[in-house]
This record gives sequence, structure tokens and C-alpha cells, in this order.
Amino acid sequence: MLTVNAKEAQEFVLTKILERNQATEYLSKFMNGSTNISAFKRHVPVVTYDMVQPYILRIATGEESSILCGEQIVELLRSSGTSQGEPRLMPSILKDLDRRTFLYSLIMPIMNKYISGLGEGKAMYLPFVKAETLTNSGIPVRSVLTSYYKSPRFLHREHDLYNNYTSPDEVILCPDSLQSMYCQLLCGLVERHHVLRIGAVFASAFLRSISFLEQHWCDLVNDIRFGQLNSNITSPACRLAMLRFLALPNSELADQIEAICSCGSWKGILGRLWPNVKYIEAVLTGTMAQYIPMLQFYGGSGIPLVCTMYASSESYFGVNLRPLCSPDDVSYTILPNMAYFEFIPLEDGLRLIDHEEVIENDKLVSLVDVKVGCYYELVVTTFSGLYRYKVGDVLQVTGFYNQAPQFKFICRRNVILSIDSDKTNEEDLHRSVTHAKKILENRNYLLLEYTSYADTSTVPGHYVLFWEIKSTCDESPAPLDAQLLESCCTAVEESLDYVYRRCRAHDKSVGPLEIRLVEAGAFDALMDLLVSHGSSINQYKTPRRIESGLALKLLNSRVIACFFSPQDPECSMQALRMKFSVHGSLLGLLHCPSIIAVLYA
Ligand code: AMP
Repeated sequence: MLTVNAKEAQEFVLTKILERNQATEYLSKFMNGSTNISAFKRHVPVVTYDMVQPYILRIATGEESSILCGEQIVELLRSSGTSQGEPRLMPSILKDLDRRTFLYSLIMPIMNKYISGLGEGKAMYLPFVKAETLTNSGIPVRSVLTSYYKSPRFLHREHDLYNNYTSPDEVILCPDSLQSMYCQLLCGLVERHHVLRIGAVFASAFLRSISFLEQHWCDLVNDIRFGQLNSNITSPACRLAMLRFLALPNSELADQIEAICSCGSWKGILGRLWPNVKYIEAVLTGTMAQYIPMLQFYGGSGIPLVCTMYASSESYFGVNLRPLCSPDDVSYTILPNMAYFEFIPLEDGLRLIDHEEVIENDKLVSLVDVKVGCYYELVVTTFSGLYRYKVGDVLQVTGFYNQAPQFKFICRRNVILSIDSDKTNEEDLHRSVTHAKKILENRNYLLLEYTSYADTSTVPGHYVLFWEIKSTCDESPAPLDAQLLESCCTAVEESLDYVYRRCRAHDKSVGPLEIRLVEAGAFDALMDLLVSHGSSINQYKTPRRIESGLALKLLNSRVIACFFSPQDPECSMQALRMKFSVHGSLLGLLHCPSIIAVLYA
């Protein structure tokens, strides 16, 4: 119904938002009390977080919610995005919980269309919460997932056929993520034959849990064997909740798990530990796509990887209506009742305009008017006080489900590396790394994780990539030689854009790209560090650029070898023409004045 009537649903949503919020200080400034949709589109500017932040800070320090929102702001949601190094805080009202619950309630009915019997077993789904704080005025500050898992909607789910998790709520609600992870894995192992689906919100958290299992399976097996919880678990609530899982010593189960975990390679281990599992659920789109090979490695070939939803702290967005498609082909159908959605067309495909650039109001396209194949930046107007707010995500339209468009998640819009006039965004970097890591894969290595850093302590400055690599060989892997890593440096540079290559090869304003190989576990340590500084393990996404001194220090302390690009990347006109002719659809750009200007610059 919603997708059939997407246009009407969107108009209804915007009308309601304007009616409820027209008297706020923020909207009155632009609309003078009007609730007229055309006035909204003409006068309310498209903004980034920095423009809303002053209002949010005023509310945090005790001013009335009504400066921004017609309803009481009951919590501030800490998003994984930052503004000047501080986490962003998104306003949220009571009814937002209903909207989030509505989206969650669609996931299992969608899955049920493709896989039957899911209600007959359990889910080893690994949610985590994060300790919350209070603002001066007493408003809770927490992550959106913490808010949901602590809410009655989650805790009173006894009538929901599909929400039978292996983890008891007390363990999910333990704010110490590592104690929670240990206990959740223990429950999952005890219930291994009843588990039908496994996963976590983001692939990074799920893989983190598998690597934790790799380190701690002996302790977990011991607990099962002797029916006693490891003394490192000190949370009283966890200890109490785990009593029923370890009621009796179970040496038979302990032997089974020990045999599986100690038997050489962990390739396909998930299917052996949880033999009835029908799929693995985690977000694997956007930057999470790099985890697909690792999950395929641990999952084995027979277990589908499923991405179910697309959401953020600002608003929940949409669901994947074809959950069994390959993770590379996932599209999310936007649900038109979540918020009012508008889109900034990115006319030059992925050549992104500056995030801070002022957007003319008539440029924005409404939800049902987007065009298949085109790229857009998402703008959202919520019930809770964000008006024409740029989320920072770039999406591509892949089709329509009834009237509602379906989007592929492309990237977050941010320039992450820049030394000179080069500007490399997350997508550019990801594409280049994806290209280079094929060289590793041909030699039976997987790139487990990466991040980057613009090192300006050298003259000229240069891009540094921290790489953690794992062998996929059961037998002794071929040694990683310098030539292999140097060819990866070259491959990354060759795939970066023309301006980077010009700066490197022609202007010499950027130095050779460096790969710093880090020891196993370095990125887990990075995650622990960032989680201890406030990130939520649920919403954690490995930063693709390292900024903080501590994080950089940590990674540098784990470096085992450094490799530099041995040659300048190609940046001649001929090479550029070849690149364009490979991407046939881009050939037309050669007639575009701005490209010609770049070519002659
Ligand atoms: P947060 O603000 O911490 O709630 O993170 C929300 C952001 O995570 C979104 O704006 C996206 O950039 C990213 N994200 C959420 N869901 C997905 C998804 N299914 N695929 C790719 N990226 C996602």
C-alpha cells in the first residue's frame, strides 16, 4: 500500500511535519508560520549538521525542544558521524520508536517469503548496547540501537514469532561490549542446533565477534564442559542470566565444539558450528562490502549473506525486498512513511560537488521523481526537527517497486584524503583498494581491513594505507614479498583519479603511496580503542581515514613492514583517453567543458 501510494504518503508526511512544527523557532524563520508545501520547498534551505548543531546544543543545555521541534525531544541519538571531532547528536521524539519498530517489523515477513520455517528456531543475532550519558538538561544521549534495544518494543517482544534470540536480554543490555560478546557467543554455542540464522547489524561487528571466538573458543568450551562461567565475566546481570545456559556440565557438546574449532582452517566454520543456519544477516553494502570475502570465507559457499535494511540515526530509510540477492546487487526500497525524502541530483555522476556548497532549492527532486540510473545525495526532513538535512549518503536509483524507488547505496559523501589539489573520497579509495586487493587474492591472501591517513609530515605529503592481511591457505602460505605489496601500491595509485595521478607524476606535489602492513588483530584493537572512546560497537564502521592521534599511534605501533609505490602512476592524455574509452558511458564527458579544462590544466 505504501509503495503504491508513495507520492500521497510523502505529501501526507510533509503536511503533518509542517503542521506539527510550523511554530518552531527554526521553521518560523523561513516560513513565517505557514504550513504550505510550496513555501517549504521555496524557502527552507538545504543544510548540513553544522547549521542545526546550535539548536541541538541549546536544547541539550536546557532550552525548550520547541525551538526545533513541535514535540518533546526525548533523547539525542549519537551518530557515527562527527562534526569537528565530536559525535553528531540527532534529535528524537517518542513516536520515532514506532517508526523504527514499523521498519523492523517488515524484515521477517519479507524473509519469510523466501525462507520458510524461520519461526521454528532461534537467531544468534548479536546486538550490543552502549552506556548512555545525560545532557545538562537531563536528556539521554545514546546510540539509536541502544535506544531501540532498551525500549519496551524490543524487550516485550514475546508475541513476535521471529524474535527468539539465543542471547538473553540481560546479556544484550550489558554495556561492556566484550563481556556481552563472550556471553552471547556462549549462548549461541550452547544452542547451536536450534540456531537458524546468525548475524549482527553491521558486518564489521559480526566479524569482530568471529575473531573474538577464534581467540576465546578454548575458554568457551571450558565453560560448557564444566558448567561454569569464566571468572572474567564480572557483570552480575550477565552472570545471573547465564546460569540457565550452564546449568549442567556438558562434556559431549564441549567435545563437539572443540573438535570443530581446533580442526585447522576456519574456512566454512560457521556452517559447522551452526549446522542448521539458513542465512547470515548483516549490512554488507557501502563500505561494508569489503567484508563480503571474509564472511564468505567463514560462512562457506552454501550460506547466503543477507542485507535487510538501510537506516541511520537521523531516520530509518528502507528495506531490501529481495533479501537473497547477491550482496553486490542489493537495493533498498525507501519506505515513504519514515520521513520526507528529497534528493540532490549529482549531475556529473560520482564527481561530487562540495558537501558545504549551497544547494539551490529548485534543484531538489522528490522521492517519486528520481530517475533510474542517476546518482543522488539523500536529504531528509523528519518529524523530530531536521529540515532538509543532508544525510551525507550517495545513492543510485536501480528501479522502482510500485511507485517507491529502489536505491543502491554507493558511498558516504566525504573527501577523506587530500594532500594538494587531489581530493579522494571514500568511494574512490574503496574502488582503488578493491582493484589492488585482487592481486593479493590471486596469491591466496585476503585484505581483512584497511584505513588511510594523509601523511603530511613528509615533503611532499603522501597517502598511507594501513592494511591487515590474512592468508586463506590451509597449508603454509606463500611468503608476502615486497614486490607483491609494491605492486598493490602501484595498483591503488593507478586507480585513483586523474588529479591525484597528475599531482603525483607531473606536479610531484604528492609523494609515493605507502602501504603499512599491520599485525593480525590490529584493527580489532582499533575498534576496541574507538569503542572505548564512545563509538557504539553496533554502529561501528572502521574509519576509512584515521584522524585521532591515539588511533594513529595504535596502528603505527602494530606496523610490521612498510612498502612504497616504486613508480609514478600514468597520467598522460593517452592514458586518460584509454580510461574513458573503457568506461564507454563516460566518453561523453570528453566533450564536457570542465573535463576539457582539467585535461589542459
Ligand atoms: P549512524 O549515523 O551511526 O546511525 O550511521 C548511519 C549511516 O550508516 C548511514 O547514513 C549510512 O552511511 C550507513 N548505513 C546504514 N545502513 C546502511 C546500509 N544498509 N548500507 C550501507 N551503509 C549503511
